[in-house]
Amino acid sequence: MTTVRRRGPGRLLALMLASTVALALCAAAPAQANGSGPTGATPDIVDSTARGGQALALTFDDGPDPRNTPRLLEVLREHRVRAVFCLWGEHVRQHPDLVRRIARAGHTLCNHTMRHDDMSTWSAADIRADLRATNAAIRDAVPHARIPYFRAPYGAWGQTPQVAADMGMQPLGWRLAVEDWEPPGTGELVRRLEEGATPGAVVLLHDGGGDRSQTVEAVDQVIPRLRAEGWHFTGPARRG
Ligand SMILES: [Zn+2]
Repeated sequence: MTTVRRRGPGRLLALMLASTVALALCAAAPAQANGSGPTGATPDIVDSTARGGQALALTFDDGPDPRNTPRLLEVLREHRVRAVFCLWGEHVRQHPDLVRRIARAGHTLCNHTMRHDDMSTWSAADIRADLRATNAAIRDAVPHARIPYFRAPYGAWGQTPQVAADMGMQPLGWRLAVEDWEPPGTGELVRRLEEGATPGAVVLLHDGGGDRSQTVEAVDQVIPRLRAEGWHFTGPARRG
């Protein structure tokens, strides 16, 4: 308000009203985004970044994991990259401290179900119960956590996209998978990431479900290489 040129009480009042409306809108935004209200999630499976161009969105599945996640958080902090963590509910219950560290670092949370089941034949009611339990586990660790995405284990979607969207979570797919679940060597993972990068791709990686040290080291090496080639890192699109 310090730059307001006072040209009479009418103008000042109008400016104050405008500021109040702007503040009210700002205050409303987080409430919309935390899943407690209409979020605009759709059943479409998004696999691209919010912004186009030479952008990639890194996503890490199946954690949190006490061996890999702390080192991964270190790597992402060093390179100033924010990622999406698709959390396995039982692992969340075992390592709530790691979920808090993920959230505190500003990364985005994604529901990856309670027990990593193939839900392709599940009823909507059973899916909903599992997704609710997973969100509850995450919010036991991080109260009021935003969980804007859902990813089906094995990409076996079945009826999950509609249920997730109804719960305010956007189904999150991927465009590039480098098969890091069968670790082929750090150098090979770096090569697959560099060669597989396409504009706007959501990239599937893993920090849980096994020894993912090669993935973490590959991410550490490939981020500066991709940046040097003009790539930048961002989040996935928020809706389909
Ligand atoms: Zn998974």
